[in-house]
Parts: sequence; structure tokens; C-alpha cells
Amino acid sequence: MATNLFDLRDRVALVTGGNGGIGLGMARGLAEAGARVAIAGRDAAKAEEALAVLGPEAAFIAVDIADQASCRAMVEEATRRFGRLDILVNNAGINIRKQPQDFTAEEWHQVLDTNLSGSFFAAQAVYPAMKEAGGGKIINIGSMMSIFGASFTTAYAASKGAVVQMTKALATAWAIDNIQVNAVLPGWIDTDLTRGARQQVEGLHDRVLARTPAGRWGAPQDLAGIAVFLGGPGSDFVTGTAIPVDGGYSSQG
Ligand code: NDP
Repeated sequence: MATNLFDLRDRVALVTGGNGGIGLGMARGLAEAGARVAIAGRDAAKAEEALAVLGPEAAFIAVDIADQASCRAMVEEATRRFGRLDILVNNAGINIRKQPQDFTAEEWHQVLDTNLSGSFFAAQAVYPAMKEAGGGKIINIGSMMSIFGASFTTAYAASKGAVVQMTKALATAWAIDNIQVNAVLPGWIDTDLTRGARQQVEGLHDRVLARTPAGRWGAPQDLAGIAVFLGGPGSDFVTGTAIPVDGGYSSQG
């Protein structure tokens, strides 16, 4: 019988920051394709609402993604609960919006530690289990700021550019272990994060609309399909890529 390339029924996925926004959109997609899903984050109350959406098999694991020991504990807990771990979505992320000259060292490190180091620590933590199982999928979340810059987003752009380069390096290192590592670059998606951006940056809402060929902001569920593709057998020869899911934003000159 032919393999269904989008069937995740025997797989377990761990989605960091899966308790809301894009992470929850991806977690839903993975769950609807049959995967059992663990979501990880800090805010347990938000996670309760997410678990109500994801169904009784889903679990919440508390983590501070910027902390290496916490990442290890998160992965141990996920493997203990579900018995295996096939897919890691490195989605947890933050932004601090300021002009570059106004960043404190602490703010700079907070963004880099969360968006870049957190993704690296989580990938490192899942590696032994994926290698032993004979393969796995790691999906790192970049941004349009992996490609472009903006005056108010130096630390965030630095972190998201680095996520793409880290993705290529991990993909190269772990291809031999049948672990595919890819990045997804979302366009402008309507979430808590960008609601903050729209409050802080005047005219952002309309500029995004004008520049996005699809003529709309994205929704978290727009990221579900790519998660299923990159989490399943359909992408077994796809590694080290950075795929925009942006309604054409990055193609517009
Ligand atoms: P949200 O703010 O809704 O989600 C961010 C998630 O990250 C939250 O669930 C949060 O969980 C989690 N998180 C943040 N810091 C930590 C931490 N230290 N430890 C554990 N979890 C943490 O934003 P989005 O859904 O928009 O963003 C998700 C990802 O997508 C981010 O990486 C973001 O950079 C990226 N992105 C978003 C775009 C957009 O337009 N929205 C565009 C491009 C990329 P908790 O609340 O529990 O702390």
C-alpha cells in the first residue's frame, strides 16, 4: 500500500510556544494529521485554552526555552509521557522593538537567548532520541526578518537570520542520522506578538496589507500545512531549507 505522505498517526510532536499564536496553529495542524502533540511554554493558563482546542491526548510542559537545563527537562518529560519524539517545532520567540542605539545588553541577550539559543538547546536535547529512533524532523521558525531588516528590530532580525544559518548547519550535521532540519519563514501573521507591533509601530497594519500580494494578514492556521509537510514522510529528502509562508510578501520587489 502506498504511504500517505501527510499521515502523522504514529508520530509525536513537541511544539515550543504551542500554547498560542503560530505555535498553536501548527500544533493543531499536526494533531489533525494524527500526531500526538505536546506543547511547551511558560504561561499555564494560556496552555489550558490551547489544550481544550487540541484534545485530550495533548499535554502541556512548562519550559523556559532560554535555559539549557529546562530544554533538556522538557524533552525528557515529552519522551516520558509519549514514549517517543519524532517532530520538534522550535517556535517559541519574542521581540523587543527599539532603535538599535537604545538596546541594553540585557534586552539584546533576552531576544538572542530566547529565539536563537533556545532553538539550539531544544534541538540538541532532542537529538539523542531522534538518532536512536532512526530519524526525526526539526522545524525552526524564522521570520521575514531572516531576510529583511527593520529599524526597530535589530536583535530580533539578528536572531532570525541566525536561525536560518543554524538550520543549514544542523541539517548538514544530522542528515546522516535521517534527521531533517528546516526553517519556516512566516510573513505577517495576526497573533499577540504582532498585535503588540501594530500598537507600537504606526502605520504597520496598512503597510503590511499593501505589501502582501495575497492582500491580507496571515492567520495561525496558515502555518498548519507546512508543519504537516515538514513533519511527515513527504519531506524526507528536504533538509536545510528556509521556506517562506507569507502570502507572497518576500517575492514582492
Ligand atoms: P506569540 O507571542 O503568540 O507566541 C510566542 C510563544 O513563544 C508564546 O506561546 C510564548 O509562550 C513562547 N515563549 C516566549 N518566550 C518563551 C520562553 N522563554 N520559554 C518558553 N516559551 C516562550 O507570537 P507568535 O505566535 O506570533 O510567534 C511565534 C513564532 O513565530 C516566534 O518565533 C515569532 O518570532 C515567529 N514569527 C511570528 C510572526 C508573526 O507575524 N506573528 C512572523 C514571523 C515569525 P508563553 O506565553 O507561555 O511564554
